[in-house]
Amino acid sequence: MCGDCCKLYSVVINFHEWLKIVKQYGVEQTVSGLDRLFIKRSSDGSCAFLCNFASNYLCGLQYMKPKACKLWPFKIINQPKLGYARDAAYEYRENELFVYVDPMCNGVRYGKPTWEFSNSTLREFVEIAMGIRDSQAKTTANLVFPQRYRSFRASGMKF
Ligand code: SF4
Repeated sequence: MCGDCCKLYSVVINFHEWLKIVKQYGVEQTVSGLDRLFIKRSSDGSCAFLCNFASNYLCGLQYMKPKACKLWPFKIINQPKLGYARDAAYEYRENELFVYVDPMCNGVRYGKPTWEFSNSTLREFVEIAMGIRDSQAKTTANLVFPQRYRSFRASGMKF
């Protein structure tokens, strides 16, 4: 709930995600680039759906959060493109994958991963990356922006 990633990066969305956002909030909440679609950024550079509520940052799209946001701060690929192949290797149902983490995330702690993290939390990230699952149980705070405020946010009201 630091909101840092939502303030720092432009979120790339796929066409299906774009359609859902447009249907609910309007096309003006998105931006199209040359070959990619993005969530609009507010004048301060943060994601248009980032909400500051009771001193915490919450995602206004929690119930339809883009895959890129669900996977942050991990990058899960099938080639060791970023090096450290041995350290990054992760086996999932006979698939050899490579998991990297963006050091820009303030929530990352370096060290030996716990069993729970390696076999449960990271597994969920991997399944989301592979398109096997959509919902998040362990990889998010599970806090949603209160329903009654969503319409205000969608109409451009800031908190
Ligand atoms: S969609 Fe949600 S998680 Fe993604 S950048 Fe916007 S506020 Fe953050």
